[in-house]
Amino acid sequence: MASASRAGGRGRAAGARLCRAAIACVALVGVRGGASFGGDEADGVALARRALESAPEVARDAGGPLRVVLLADAKDHGPAGNGQHDYPLWQARWAELFGKGVMVAEGWPAEEQFADADVIVAYCYLKWDGGRIGQMRRYLDGGGGLVLLHSATWTKPGPSGEVAELVGVGGFQLFRHGPVRLDVAAADHPICLGLPAAVTLENDETYWPPTPMAARVTVLATSVEEKGARGSTPRAAQPMLWCYPLGKGRVFGCVPGHLAKTFDDPLFRVLLFRGIAWAAGGSVFRLDRLVLEGTR
Ligand SMILES: [Zn+2]
Repeated sequence: MASASRAGGRGRAAGARLCRAAIACVALVGVRGGASFGGDEADGVALARRALESAPEVARDAGGPLRVVLLADAKDHGPAGNGQHDYPLWQARWAELFGKGVMVAEGWPAEEQFADADVIVAYCYLKWDGGRIGQMRRYLDGGGGLVLLHSATWTKPGPSGEVAELVGVGGFQLFRHGPVRLDVAAADHPICLGLPAAVTLENDETYWPPTPMAARVTVLATSVEEKGARGSTPRAAQPMLWCYPLGKGRVFGCVPGHLAKTFDDPLFRVLLFRGIAWAAGGSVFRLDRLVLEGTR
């Protein structure tokens, strides 16, 4: 069963073909363009719908249910109900959202979950050590997908070159709470297809600078952050979302996600679900149907 799902779920060659087909289709019809989707009447849902409608129809439902591991841990940021780093709440909501094929893990996935998963989505601090780095590397080398959300991108006890080589970014040094403007930096990437030039979150948290960032990272979106408090970094556009291939595997990293509310933002969800689908392999648009499901 495990081997069947692995073969089915990790159809990398088929996935790559689909992805190329999607890009070709977009190029033909010129969907993306450089349009700015401002407008007084436009809200997040309308803009998200526009992005969803940009996806090539043939690619939207491609592939069977993904085998997703939702990796969480105990809440670590203030009391229950404050909506900050609420990993258990996120896990419960997304387990329901993903439905068939979902697996849950606390702290770290079980060995059999590494064997079965198309994609592991981590929303909690990850306690990296040599053994875990090796295990994750084998999983990625074999074609697995990994998604790091918010605290999962912040390496403890400190930034690490080894972690950067594994997931694209080795950690961060600074953080800021407040409004976040995500400027799309790779408008031609299928994950960003049909999105406006910027996605604004009313309130969340950014981390920067990437310490270090691997050479093969594709930065999808940035946020302009001011000079570090001790002058450690200049004012600059800092990477907030990225893609990183490793072996046959893929890693998608996403810095925002401090607040539970952010996971209900429709435009943020477009980026997130496409990032998860990209990491899993197959059509980037296969989870588009979840974007407007169950938001509150
Ligand atoms: Zn946070």
